Amino acid sequence: MLTKPDSLLAYINDATGLRLPDGHFIDGGFRAPRSGRSMQSEDPGRGEAFADFARGNADDVADAVENSRKAFALWRRTPPAERGRILARTAELIRRNSERLAITECLDSGKPISEARGDVSGAARTFEYYAGACDKLEGSTFPLPSDYVGYSQFEPVGVTAHIIPWNFPISTAARGMAPALAAGCTVVAKPAEQTPFTALLLAELLFEAGLPAGVCNVVTGTGIEVGAPLVSNTGIDHVTFTGSVTTGASVMRACAENVTRSVMELGGKSPVVVLDDCDFDGTVTNVAGAIFEHAGQICSAGSRLVIEAGIHDRFVEALGRKAKAISLGHGLRSPDMGPVNSAMQQEKIAGFLDRARERGAEFISGGKASSDPETGKGYFIEPTIVANRPAEDELVQEEIFGPVLTVQKADNYEHALQLANCTRFGLVAGVFTGNFTRAHQLARDIDAGQVYINEYFAGGIEVPFGGNKQSGFGREKGLEGLKSYCKVKSIAARIG
Ligand code: ADP
Repeated sequence: MLTKPDSLLAYINDATGLRLPDGHFIDGGFRAPRSGRSMQSEDPGRGEAFADFARGNADDVADAVENSRKAFALWRRTPPAERGRILARTAELIRRNSERLAITECLDSGKPISEARGDVSGAARTFEYYAGACDKLEGSTFPLPSDYVGYSQFEPVGVTAHIIPWNFPISTAARGMAPALAAGCTVVAKPAEQTPFTALLLAELLFEAGLPAGVCNVVTGTGIEVGAPLVSNTGIDHVTFTGSVTTGASVMRACAENVTRSVMELGGKSPVVVLDDCDFDGTVTNVAGAIFEHAGQICSAGSRLVIEAGIHDRFVEALGRKAKAISLGHGLRSPDMGPVNSAMQQEKIAGFLDRARERGAEFISGGKASSDPETGKGYFIEPTIVANRPAEDELVQEEIFGPVLTVQKADNYEHALQLANCTRFGLVAGVFTGNFTRAHQLARDIDAGQVYINEYFAGGIEVPFGGNKQSGFGREKGLEGLKSYCKVKSIAARIG
């Protein structure tokens, strides 16, 4: 077991003790890629490769889908209570292996170890939640005339593909796999090429928990070489995609060709609306957490502060002080904030900041690319707050996916609402006020899939999650998430 905290830093230079897999997980075991090729995963905290993994192609995808199809015939008939027992054992195994999973996630994604531990325990909770739901998927009866009987039942949609992003590798894998398996579906997952490992380890734990071979498969590799052939494979019945709007649109086109169902969780540019009567200190802490957790690389990050004029100056000053006090460093050193995921992301974010500077933007904090102060390495961005920007500014409209908060000053409540809704995204929103009525009016009128009141990121796996507008469609998490993997069959019989 990897539980000795003192040994954590040893993994920065040598991750071999983690015993990371270098094959795909297909048909209940690790399998070498058909091409024989591998790729490297980088540790963003150092900007150096730390482990090799399999570089898949369309042949590996075809193998995985074929196995998954065969296994579907068995899994859909496995009694729901037995499916639940396997998922519950998986939750237990995730907890038992939590340190190995968390260190792996930290090295692969860059996130601070405390956040990685939180993600791993969230993944265990996800399996626990859906374990309890397997045998509670009840249909309904229809009030037909007395010489008829009408009822509905849920059927699993079939073989499901899961395209997973690099920002929350184990969380996103778990929130797709667990409800799909609970509903009786089988799985072929493709983790992002930047963060391939925890999805593979999760598939192995599911197998160890008793999941039959072939029910959960993971193929690693690039979006073009593995993701594209997976979503266009005619053996796939449903696609769950989490990623950018552009890639999501291309996945939707592939789904349209085969008339494949899909759930799309795309980008966000979520507002945090702060009214004059909020709890000042608690709200400052929440607003900072909403944008600086995982260096802002969260679809639902609160990346726009929409703040009433009366509190604006004092609040922005306090927030700036908080941002400047944030420590940066390699995730295994437990900093307040870790790196961004890659050199490409760092460059993209720095580009947004440079262009804003050229437009005359005022930086309350940060504003530049940086590195780990201990080593001078890694892909970091300073915690950045940009003073009041107009609604049409690029920083307000585009998803930056980094630790960059834009301030928008609102003259009054109506103006705040208008600014909250001023982008093409509609994933989440935060609302901070002591006024119960205002809070619920904003919750009603902001166009977003979910609204957090007086605590950003409130809730857990029980709460459905998904977007409006260009943030996508369909819902994950909660019982709504389970229904995504079910087809309703209606049966009507004449008995009179
Ligand atoms: P980013 O640009 O931030 O890396 P993407 O939306 O491109 O985000 O990636 C999210 C996931 O989609 C990753 O697992 C990636 O490999 C995958 N992907 C990329 N391109 C495609 C594609 N054409 N078809 C299917 N999956 C893809």
